[in-house]
Amino acid sequence: MTEPFYADDVKLEPYWWEAAPRPEPAPAAVPQRIDVAIVGSGYTGLSAALTLARAGRSVIILESGDLGDGASSRNGGGFGPTIKIPFASLSDKVGLDRAKALFLEAHKAQDYQAALIEDEGIACHFEKVGRFTGAIKPKDYEDMAADIAVQRRHLGIEAEMVPRSEQHREVGTDHYHGGRLLHFGGVLHPVLFHQGLLDLALEAGAAVAARNKVTAIAREGAGFKVVSELGTVTAGNVIVATNGYTGKLTPWLRRRIIPIQSQIITTEPMAPQVMDRLIPNRRMLGDTCKLHHYYRPSPDGARLIFGGRAGATEIDDPRASGTHLYYRMTALFPELAGVRITHVWTGYTGYTFDTLPHLGEQDGVHYAGGYCGSGTAMAVYLGHKIALRVLGSPEAACVFDTGRFPTRPLYFGTPWFLPPILMYYGWRDRLRL
Ligand SMILES: Cc1cc2nc3c(=O)[nH]c(=O)nc-3n(C[C@H](O)[C@H](O)[C@H](O)COP(=O)(O)OP(=O)(O)OC[C@H]3O[C@@H](n4cnc5c(N)ncnc54)[C@H](O)[C@@H]3O)c2cc1C
Repeated sequence: MTEPFYADDVKLEPYWWEAAPRPEPAPAAVPQRIDVAIVGSGYTGLSAALTLARAGRSVIILESGDLGDGASSRNGGGFGPTIKIPFASLSDKVGLDRAKALFLEAHKAQDYQAALIEDEGIACHFEKVGRFTGAIKPKDYEDMAADIAVQRRHLGIEAEMVPRSEQHREVGTDHYHGGRLLHFGGVLHPVLFHQGLLDLALEAGAAVAARNKVTAIAREGAGFKVVSELGTVTAGNVIVATNGYTGKLTPWLRRRIIPIQSQIITTEPMAPQVMDRLIPNRRMLGDTCKLHHYYRPSPDGARLIFGGRAGATEIDDPRASGTHLYYRMTALFPELAGVRITHVWTGYTGYTFDTLPHLGEQDGVHYAGGYCGSGTAMAVYLGHKIALRVLGSPEAACVFDTGRFPTRPLYFGTPWFLPPILMYYGWRDRLRL
């Protein structure tokens, strides 16, 4: 480690794992028969397991890594009713009524997550502190102002614009041209949340088998034969909840989910006065960069957790991506020059070609995913919805269940087209075009 800003004992794994180390998987046997087999132990898989187990179904979650090894233990912990496309643009594309339905259901996703955390008493530093997005150029400020005016009219959201002259009440930088403040959404501790969901699913009777990659899913009679490293189970139904980690197991889904890396660094603890200046209201923050950044204080308020897409290509060495992020963080907050980085890590988000999440069924296999980097609430909600779909419940209806999940010719799961696009976006961000 040559860069002086890395702490001597910098950890190349999520800061979150300190509060909730990944559980050592107990020796697990894969049963011969099960009602539902779920592939993937992130928020989607756990939420689906919880709903199914509480409805009396026998369930097993099969996970190739440690439990929650994917994005669900690696994310920034921001939550909200986030759909990546601005409401006005989505409305132009799909019509006002459909755009309203999509956004309103995204709000339901946030409400579902909040009710689950509050009703079940999941201790995960869940704070409804809102979200501020800094505009990197004046036009972004105007566009966000226009968008929230339309959203206020059609969705009744609570939001306001903060002009550049007042932005220090939200963020200690002069980098932005003002920003948008949403009075909803907020922050949580992603791994304590994952742990809480896991505990609920286990209490409800779900079984788990970690470090156990699923290698094949094949039709067998009215059900499926699910082959995994620890054994083969005959399942009445299968849910695939692999999102940004979707692989060759499910070629159809792999052609529809685009894995995109995102990286995060965490600073050493800082004096409270520093955070008072940087993020006075302790919110989730982001910006309008095409390769956007997201950041927040740690739950104890002492550290800055700063994430984003470090470069145009995937970077295998977290230290290299951490270096890019460090320079972006200190460009935003020059007073952090010299602060040491204690943790740096990466994870995969799952994007889609229409920038919307999806759930549904293909060849009898159920799936939910494609949260486009905003899944802490949506994954929990769509996990619940896909479980209701398996149960045949009338409450399974969901606007993200469209029956149409777009792909592109020549896309088979390796996003070869991303580097030039991301390089172009990075260039535009630097020039603020
Ligand atoms: C760095 C980063 C920052 C993020 N920040 C935010 C944020 O601040 N706010 C927000 O809302 N969202 C954020 N996200 C997105 C959010 O974390 C995800 O949308 C969400 O966690 C997806 O949950 P999931 O259960 O669908 O998938 P995951 O949690 O990724 O789980 C998928 C699991 O499937 C397993 N798997 C794959 N193939 C197999 C197989 N063959 N057999 C067995 N298991 C398999 C994987 O090992 C993995 O554990 C971020 C993501 C990343 C990577």
